[in-house]
Amino acid sequence: MKRLVVIGFALAFFAASQGAMGAAGVRLDSNTYVKLIARGKQEATAKGLVAMDKYLCLSLGKKKLRSGKQRVKVILEARYAGLKDVDLTKLTDVRDLSSYEITVRGGPKPEIHIIGMTGDGLTFGVYDFLENDIGVTWLFPGPAGTALPKKKGFEIKAGTRKVRPEFVSRVYTGMTPGPYPDFYNSLRLHHLIFSSHAMIRIFPIEESKRLHPEIFPMKKGKRHIPKVGSKHFGHGEHWHPCYTNPKTVEVATTKALKFFKRRDGLTFSLGINDGTRLQCDCKDCKKVGWPQSYYQFVNKVADNVKEYYPPFLIGVLAYGDVEIPHKDLKLAENVLVLGSGSDKFMGKAKHLGVYEYLYGWGFWVPNFPLKIMKSNALVHRKMGAMAIHAEVHPVWAFDAPKVYIRSRLLWNADYDVDAGLERWCNAAFGKGAEPMLKFYRLWASKRDKDLKPDGITFPTDISVFRVSNAHFAPLSDDDYDKCAAWLAQARKQANDPVVSKRLDMIEPFFDYSRIAFKMWQLKRTVFESGKDKNWAALAGQALALKQRREGLLKSMRAHKEWFYGTRSTVDRMLSVVWEGRWTWTVFYENDNAIRTALYNAGLSNLPLPKTLPEPYQMFSKASKRTRLNLEKFDQAIGYYHDHIYNQMNVTPRPGIAEFRLNTKAPKKIPDDTPHAWMSPNRLKLSWFRASTPLSQDKYYAFDVTVTGAKGKVDIRIHNENDCGMKIWLQEEFGAKAEARTKRLLLKPVPKWGTGVGRPVSNWSVEIIFTPSATDATFNGECSVNLVEFDGAK
Ligand SMILES: [Zn+2]
Repeated sequence: MKRLVVIGFALAFFAASQGAMGAAGVRLDSNTYVKLIARGKQEATAKGLVAMDKYLCLSLGKKKLRSGKQRVKVILEARYAGLKDVDLTKLTDVRDLSSYEITVRGGPKPEIHIIGMTGDGLTFGVYDFLENDIGVTWLFPGPAGTALPKKKGFEIKAGTRKVRPEFVSRVYTGMTPGPYPDFYNSLRLHHLIFSSHAMIRIFPIEESKRLHPEIFPMKKGKRHIPKVGSKHFGHGEHWHPCYTNPKTVEVATTKALKFFKRRDGLTFSLGINDGTRLQCDCKDCKKVGWPQSYYQFVNKVADNVKEYYPPFLIGVLAYGDVEIPHKDLKLAENVLVLGSGSDKFMGKAKHLGVYEYLYGWGFWVPNFPLKIMKSNALVHRKMGAMAIHAEVHPVWAFDAPKVYIRSRLLWNADYDVDAGLERWCNAAFGKGAEPMLKFYRLWASKRDKDLKPDGITFPTDISVFRVSNAHFAPLSDDDYDKCAAWLAQARKQANDPVVSKRLDMIEPFFDYSRIAFKMWQLKRTVFESGKDKNWAALAGQALALKQRREGLLKSMRAHKEWFYGTRSTVDRMLSVVWEGRWTWTVFYENDNAIRTALYNAGLSNLPLPKTLPEPYQMFSKASKRTRLNLEKFDQAIGYYHDHIYNQMNVTPRPGIAEFRLNTKAPKKIPDDTPHAWMSPNRLKLSWFRASTPLSQDKYYAFDVTVTGAKGKVDIRIHNENDCGMKIWLQEEFGAKAEARTKRLLLKPVPKWGTGVGRPVSNWSVEIIFTPSATDATFNGECSVNLVEFDGAK
C-alpha cells in the first residue's frame, strides 16, 4: 500500500511540473484573509506553519492572517512525517527526500499549495516561498539578521515549480540551529549521508576484546590491544582493525544489516578512525597491501548488504592513510566515498561526496572565496557528488554572505553568486548596499585569484589556518583604508537604525582585523634591528594597538548576539584553549614588540615615552645579561622529511650558533616524492633547529642574523609545541646577497596544551630556507641571552 502511494506521489509531481497554470496569479496584501491549512501529520507540518504564519504577518503588515476581505487559501502539506515512513527503495531520486512543489492558482478560489514528501521537504518549500516569492532574506542569526521586504503587497505568479536540491545531503559543522532557528532553517540543510570515523563504533575496544579479539591489528608479531575506555583519537582510537580477518567483515556486515533494517539512515559508515593509525601487519594484510586491504574489506561488506541498494549505501572516508586510491581500485556500486579530495575516486566509486573546509573562525580577514564556491559547485555536480559536508564555523561579521551563497549553491549549482551577493547586500544595507558590495568584492578578489578552473579549489587552504603571515602578506594599508571608507559610507547612505545595527557588528571585527594587520606590520619594523630607530615611538604604537585590541574584545564579549548560531566565540577566536598549537602569533608578537622596543631604547640610552605605564618601565633597565648556549642541533630530524629538506651545517661556538647551507647535499627533490608540494619549485628546503632551556618567569633576548640570496627564510621561535610558532618572521632575498638582523626580547608563553596546560621548559629556534634557484646562498647565526631587569617579578 505504502509503495503505491509513493509511486503515485512521484507521478503526480512529474505531471504537475509539465505545464504552467497560465491564468492570473494570487495577490497577497494587508487586505488578504489568509486561510492557512495544514495537511499531514502535525509533527511534519508544524515548523512550516509557524514560519509561514510569522513571516506572512510581518511581510503583509498584519497582526493575524485571518483578517481582511480577499480570501486566499495557503495549504501546507507533508505526505510523510519523516524518513522512516517513506519506502526509500521506491524513490526514483533520493534527492526527493528534500524536494517540494509549490503551486499557485488564481481565479475565484485563489490558492497556494506547498507540498513536500516529508516535513523537512515542506519546511524547505515554505522558506523558498518566503524568500523568493515574498522577499524575506535571512542574513545571519539574531534579531538584526532578518530583512523583510520593503513593500507590503505581492503578486504571486500562477504556476507550479518543483524543486529538488543539487545534492542529497547538505551538512555544515561549527553552526547550531539555536537560538534563532529560522535562520538555520532558511539554509535548507539536510543531514542524510554520514561517512564519519566509524571503526571505533563498529569495533568498540571492550566489546571486541571480549567477543572477537582477533579483529585487533598485529604489530611485529604481537596483537595490539588498545586501552579500554579511551575513545579519543589521541589515545585508543589510533588503530585499524585487521581488515583481512573474516571476523572483521562479519561483524561490520551484521551491524550494517541491523542499521539498514532499522532504517537509521541512508549510509552505514565504514570510515576509518581519526588520528595516526596503526595498520595491521599480519601475513594476510601484508600480502594484499595497503590501502587495498581496507578497500577489499569495504567491498566485501558492501557486497553482503547489496540487497538494500538502492538507496542504502556503505560510506567511506577518503582520509588519512586511505585517501589515495590504488590505481586498479574499483569499489562496489553501493559504496559512497566522502572526502576533500574525493575527485580522486572518480571512475572508481559510483557515489561521491565532498568534504570541504569553509572556515571563518581561524582567519583574521574575511575568507570569502566567491567565485571559487561557484566553480566548485559545478565541479561537484560534474562529479555526481551526492553529499556536501562543510566545516564552516562562521564569524558572522565576515562570513554571513558566504554562508548565504554557499547554501543556495547546495540547491542549484547554476546559482548566480554575483546576483546572490547583490541581493544579500541590498537586503542587509538598503541604500548603503553599493559600498558594502565593494567591501565584500575586495575580499573575494583576494581569494578568487587562487581559482583553478579545471578542478576543485579548496575554499580554505587549511595550511594557512591561523597563520597571520599568510593572511596579511597579500594585503595593504590601501585595502584597509578603502574598506573603512566603504563601511562609513554605508552607514551614512543607509541612515537606517537596522542597517546601523548590522554595521555595528561588522565594524569591530573589521577594526580587529585592521589592528592585527598593523601589529603584523609593526613587528617587522621592531624586530629588525641594526638601525637607529625611534624605539620609544614604536613602543608607544605597539602599546596603543594592544589597548585598542583589548577595548574591542571587551565590546565583542558584551554582544552575545554576534555569536548566535556559530561555534565561534570571542574566546575561541582568542584561542586560549589552543595555546601551543597553531596559535595566533600576532598578539604574542605585539606584546614582545613592546618589550623589545623598550629594551632597545634602554640599550641606546634613548628616552622612553612619557605616558609609559609602570609595568613597562623596567624593560629599558636591564641589569644583567647571561649568554646561553643553543644546543640539540640534531633534534627532530624525523620531523623534516629527508626527501624534502636538507639539514644545515652547524658550527657551535660558546654562546653562538652558526648555520649554513650544506652545499654537498642534493638540491633537487626527486619526481613523485610525497609532500613535494611543500617546495614551490622542487628544490630542497634547508632547516636549522636548536633549543635552550628556560625559566618561565624570565626574559630572553634573541639576536639573529641571516644573510642570503635567491630565496625566502622563515624564522620561528617558540616554546614546547612545534605548531605554536610564537614568533614567525618571513624574509625574502633578492638576487644579491643581503643581511638581515633581528633582535627579539621574548617572554615564554604561560603554558602549553589544552585544558589546564603544562609549564613550558625550553625555547626552540627554527630557521627554514626555501631557495628560489639552485645557486641560492644562505647562512646565519643566532645567540640567546637571559636578561634580568630591575624590578621584574
Ligand atoms: Zn591483518
